[in-house]
Amino acid sequence: MDFVEFIKNFKNEHQEEINELPEYNHPFLKDESEKPLKWKLPDDDSHEALSEIPVFKKLMDGFMEEFFYTKEIKVNLKDHCRFYGEKALHEFNETKEDGYSPLSYESIKKYRIPYVVKALANMLLTPDRDMFLHLDSEMMLIAEDLYCEDCGERLRLEYDLLESRIAPLENEYLTIPKCPCAGEDFLIKATIPVPSGKLVFANNLRCLFTEKEVETIEDISVNSFYGRKKHTLDYAKLGMLFASVGNTSPNVYSVNEGEEILVGNFWEEMEEENNLPENAVPVGNICTDLWWYCAIDFDDFKRRLKVFEESGEEKNPSLEDYFVVEIKGTEAHLEHYVEIDEDVDVFSKIIIK
Ligand SMILES: [Zn+2]
Repeated sequence: MDFVEFIKNFKNEHQEEINELPEYNHPFLKDESEKPLKWKLPDDDSHEALSEIPVFKKLMDGFMEEFFYTKEIKVNLKDHCRFYGEKALHEFNETKEDGYSPLSYESIKKYRIPYVVKALANMLLTPDRDMFLHLDSEMMLIAEDLYCEDCGERLRLEYDLLESRIAPLENEYLTIPKCPCAGEDFLIKATIPVPSGKLVFANNLRCLFTEKEVETIEDISVNSFYGRKKHTLDYAKLGMLFASVGNTSPNVYSVNEGEEILVGNFWEEMEEENNLPENAVPVGNICTDLWWYCAIDFDDFKRRLKVFEESGEEKNPSLEDYFVVEIKGTEAHLEHYVEIDEDVDVFSKIIIK
């Protein structure tokens, strides 16, 4: 059954109730005699308001029943939004996570159904006026602005009634590539040379790079895993470790006097939960005004700082608020963990070779 068929059946079964609905003046449409069109949808056409009118409540419930509850709807997001995975729609309900999920029945009912019901109600009330037939009879928009948290791709999700499938909207002008982060282990690795044997840490050292160098950094949002990884890899090519840590203001620890550096937040005051290695000592703290940290070879830092100072450009606080960590080697191998949550205390491990 498609929407048109559904609405025809509904109309046949509920014609009397529809006739008895009170009439309102339509806010802008006029009838043949230029008077406001008599209308049966109230001004407040929210989900709550429509639910209070029995015939519209039946329409919404019937719609959910016909097109959602009693169907096996496959969801295929082309590997985007890995938290959603590839499941049947009803499974999104069963594994309800905290927070808003555009694919739960509840949010479909609350946020999407009123649009459909309004369109259906328009068809119901004035079947001859084709100006209201703006509803595709086989496709329904399920989510408008869903961004993949891994790669940043914007997805508009459509429910294809005939195929019983929810998928990103695609057409002759728009194709959605598969998520480039599929199969990622979400660990970012990068290496820089540290010939001086000393690493400078600060919140933000990007200003030390020339315009030409910065051109090699892909202009991509750091709001997605893919963007953060790309920034880390691109800056490493310029000799700097750059890693997103959110607004965590992490501490930096030196293990075994510079064999390994850890960046993270250990709960030092709570001994039982403290996973900090015994031979690790705090050597500094990053104040995350910007949600990342930078680390660079000390000699390279001094050289770049001199060039920067000669350019007369205005200094940023990081250029005074930095600290130097001695390391046992001349190469820094970063292993950066992207999933930062309360249980993670190490964001980055920097192995020195
Ligand atoms: Zn993606």
